[in-house]
Amino acid sequence: MYEKEFELDTLDTGTMEFMKWLIAKDTNSGDTLIVVKDYLDNKYVIMFDKSIFKDVIIDYRDGMSLCMTCNTDDCGHVGFAICLKQNYDRDDQVVF
Ligand SMILES: [Zn+2]
Repeated sequence: MYEKEFELDTLDTGTMEFMKWLIAKDTNSGDTLIVVKDYLDNKYVIMFDKSIFKDVIIDYRDGMSLCMTCNTDDCGHVGFAICLKQNYDRDDQVVF
């Protein structure tokens, strides 16, 4: 058995985590790895990742999302941030 040090290491895990986050937001269960702290459309999103106990900043620049914490564009935080942005673009409202 091994322990994963970093759960959100691929875009797909971020997408799955976003689905959980959406459901948790509706049911208020709070049972998610990611807590969204701040979101500014087309600028950035700040989230807290409970799996690493760190704030994570994703920079939306020129339509590209970059995770400042992992310094990559294909970690789970970026996957999460892309879904978050699509969700807000569609709903045009921000509710935390
Ligand atoms: Zn990241």
